[in-house]
Amino acid sequence: MHDFLLTAEHRAFRVEIRAFLRSQLAPRCEAIERDADWEAVKAVVRALGRAGYLKLMFADLYGGPLTRPGLTPATILSEEAAYLNYAFETTVATALSCAFPLHGFASAAIRGRFLVPLLDGQAVGSICITEPNVGSDSAGMETHIRFDTRSREWVIDGLKRYISNASRADVYVVWGITDPNVSPHKGLTAVAVPAGTSGLSFPRNYDFMGRRGCLVGEVAFDGVRVPEENLLGEVGGGFRIMLGAFNFERVLLGGSGLGVARSAFDIATAHAQHRNVFGQKLGQKQLIWDMIAEMSWRIDAAELLTHRAARMYDEGIEGKSLMREASQAKLVATETAVFCADRVVQILGGDGITRQFGRAEQIYRDARALPIVGGTSEMNKYLIAAREMPSIKLNL
Ligand SMILES: Cc1cc2nc3c(=O)[nH]c(=O)nc-3n(C[C@H](O)[C@H](O)[C@H](O)COP(=O)(O)OP(=O)(O)OC[C@H]3O[C@@H](n4cnc5c(N)ncnc54)[C@H](O)[C@@H]3O)c2cc1C
Repeated sequence: MHDFLLTAEHRAFRVEIRAFLRSQLAPRCEAIERDADWEAVKAVVRALGRAGYLKLMFADLYGGPLTRPGLTPATILSEEAAYLNYAFETTVATALSCAFPLHGFASAAIRGRFLVPLLDGQAVGSICITEPNVGSDSAGMETHIRFDTRSREWVIDGLKRYISNASRADVYVVWGITDPNVSPHKGLTAVAVPAGTSGLSFPRNYDFMGRRGCLVGEVAFDGVRVPEENLLGEVGGGFRIMLGAFNFERVLLGGSGLGVARSAFDIATAHAQHRNVFGQKLGQKQLIWDMIAEMSWRIDAAELLTHRAARMYDEGIEGKSLMREASQAKLVATETAVFCADRVVQILGGDGITRQFGRAEQIYRDARALPIVGGTSEMNKYLIAAREMPSIKLNL
């Protein structure tokens, strides 16, 4: 049975959110892709917030009709949004990844100030980890955060790059070193920085092959000062927060990969059943069956792994105990998206690489980011292997 890891309630939720996105997001997809229309993105984020969908994964704040809110319905939301437009979905997924540490580790005052507007869809968030010299090796970051005991403020200096929602976000959760004399596991700290803080700037935006509409750029911190209360968790507790955020983000990215893969698959199967070649339907040719069958089983494998990881999270499994399953979900779903994006272009032939004939070429350009963002496929393989061979110290 399709979706068999989901409850009847979650399946009904899929139908509901699909209809919602078809009415709110679908009419704006062209403006997002063609004009990178940020106002269109914001309008849908606001609509999602008004309807309470951005609170899905925070059971204590949710208050909606689902008896089992959590990461499972949030992942379904990601999948359904990415099916229509992956760039839009990344804006929401990034905001949720920013909400995660605010929800779990901020003081009540900071939650009220930054988390509530994020979940109401009035604000957008951003997470700042990657730096010019540090990507996959995130523990080796060079940004410094020090505490000024006189003014009782955190002072941040450093440069982050490849930051989604850079310059658009209302709040930035930033990680930096507070103690260079201990291992990063104990020396990293996270703080929240509101937009408009003095010393915060955005030197560069990137021009990507895909994901048009989601702005990604550099975020510079030049003596940025925020009050003591903007600390998330404990001093030196940033690595643990990051680990939890990565797990969470990887499961959501499973949903993103699934959505992109499914949109490619639907276009491919429709075309193969419609197009005539050599006096027969294209779909009657065995070489095409092979492609369709492989897309199909890869998508099902991605779905099973993604919903398994989401369910584990919803049952309270986290940290290292979720690392293998979250990594498998992210790895398989995002590689499946790239596979399906490639095959849909092949099945469509010339139409597949032409902007005039549908979305295949956009899906092809969009999908390529998926195995890179939120931890590359190679890093996810390391994490999986590390859990499978606890006695081996993997040499990264
Ligand atoms: C569109 C986009 C949006 C992003 N959004 C955000 C964001 O919002 N916030 C944020 O903090 N970051 C963000 N990132 C950054 C993203 O997480 C990093 O790009 C990613 O972690 C990889 O880091 P890197 O680009 O520095 O590549 P590198 O770490 O330099 O890796 C380059 C290649 O080498 C491989 N590699 C690295 N180490 C090893 C090893 N030990 N063994 C084998 N292979 C290895 C990698 O797998 C990769 O293939 C975004 C990136 C993109 C492209």
